[in-house]
Amino acid sequence: MQWLMRKCTVCGRYTLQRDRCPVCGGPVAVPHPPRFSPEDKYVVYRYRMKMLAGLIPRSESQA
Ligand SMILES: [Zn+2]
Repeated sequence: MQWLMRKCTVCGRYTLQRDRCPVCGGPVAVPHPPRFSPEDKYVVYRYRMKMLAGLIPRSESQA
């Protein structure tokens, strides 16, 4: 379930919002990445770019 959690990179608040912080509107990131490696970061980056581009349908269970 922690994968659903995001952490604002600006104010540090945890949120379920996937794209931006509901408090300050800043970008959010996964607070607990499985591991740190350039490849993984690249994958996450590509995923975020796809999501921002609307290529990945969002399944928001909570409005
Ligand atoms: Zn914020």
